[in-house]
Amino acid sequence: MFDPSKAIQDMLVFGEFGDVNPSVTDSSTYTFMSPDKMKEMFDHEIEGCFLYSRHWNPINKFLSNALAGLENSESAQVTASGMAAISCAILQLCNSGDEMLCSRTVYGGTYALFKNFLAKLGIKVNFINVHDLEVVKQAITPRTKVIYTESISNPLLEVANLPALAEIANQHGLKLVVDNTFSPMIISPLRLGAHVVVHSMTKFINGTSDCVAGCICSDSAFIHQLSDVNMGACMLLGPVLDSTRAASILKNIHSLHLRMKQHSKNALYLAENIEKLGFKIFYPGLPSHPQHELMKQLMNKDFGFSGIVAWDVGNEAKANELMTVMQQQKVGYLAVSLGYFKTLFSAPGSSTSSEIPHDERDKMGLSDGLIRLSVGLDNDIETTFERIKVSLQQVGLLQ
Ligand SMILES: *Cc1c(COP(=O)(O)O)cnc(C)c1O
Repeated sequence: MFDPSKAIQDMLVFGEFGDVNPSVTDSSTYTFMSPDKMKEMFDHEIEGCFLYSRHWNPINKFLSNALAGLENSESAQVTASGMAAISCAILQLCNSGDEMLCSRTVYGGTYALFKNFLAKLGIKVNFINVHDLEVVKQAITPRTKVIYTESISNPLLEVANLPALAEIANQHGLKLVVDNTFSPMIISPLRLGAHVVVHSMTKFINGTSDCVAGCICSDSAFIHQLSDVNMGACMLLGPVLDSTRAASILKNIHSLHLRMKQHSKNALYLAENIEKLGFKIFYPGLPSHPQHELMKQLMNKDFGFSGIVAWDVGNEAKANELMTVMQQQKVGYLAVSLGYFKTLFSAPGSSTSSEIPHDERDKMGLSDGLIRLSVGLDNDIETTFERIKVSLQQVGLLQ
């Protein structure tokens, strides 16, 4: 059984002065001993040599290597945001005139990028139900280049059948690109056949909600392409991650395994107990979840079913009332984003998924009364649940 925490555990760094954390280079540019060497670097990357920080810098290399270990990829590239990782990966793979298949339940920003922005560049995205493999096969045309999905979708927590999608992709010479933001360590998409993994490191991987960052994990050839000085999306669009941020994310990665376990444990506790109160809960750790069995097949051992729970309280007004009271009751913060050490909640219908038109949200089962909880690292989750019950009573959703 693959253990994604192993590569990070085995990562020993000897910094410039024997530092246990690698030194943060405070430089945008790097010297060369000879002009010839500089010229060579423009032709192809030289291991251990740095040119300019937008291209590569030492700490971003360290962080990328850690992420490659995490995702079991040959290589990785860090970016200044999750959206930068997604847009660079897709723009590297698709040209004007190409088409892409995308799961209809994806993060709102991704949806807007694909639907509105890529259309401007002549890349057509067909949003489909990737859980129906016949639909996926039928939707492939000679121009399709990519199948895109989230391993666990935002916000409905649908689990993608990655091995089946990879098989379809391989049969048709397509790339399967997977956003694994919701399930680092839990699901290893590349081991299940995906070709490219993207993350918003803003969420679980960093875990302290103090910066925005992303990454792309794939084979070395693809990562090289991304930083090519003539044709690389990362090099030319320029979403370089700042080195001081890379350094702080690298430190946080060393506790990711512990955090994922605790997020998952707390989320399962809340999902089970809120469901018992009679509410509609979406959580892949519950037997009531349509892909519960699939999730059990796909997941790595020990890290649980992730820290996100979606909860339908009926309508937008009730959701808003409840979230206001939950914040007063110190359940957590009314805020977008996820993967923080505190519990965060928001109503995707009026926030992170509001880019998706209403009729399409209805089709995918995303109700206006949906609350997305990113469950924190609370040591005492029982008290958190009691506070949720008090909040429910205050807004009249519980006797
Ligand atoms: C937040 C998020 C993104 C975007 O990441 P940023 O770091 O905010 O740019 C992409 N995909 C998913 C699933 C997300 O939750």
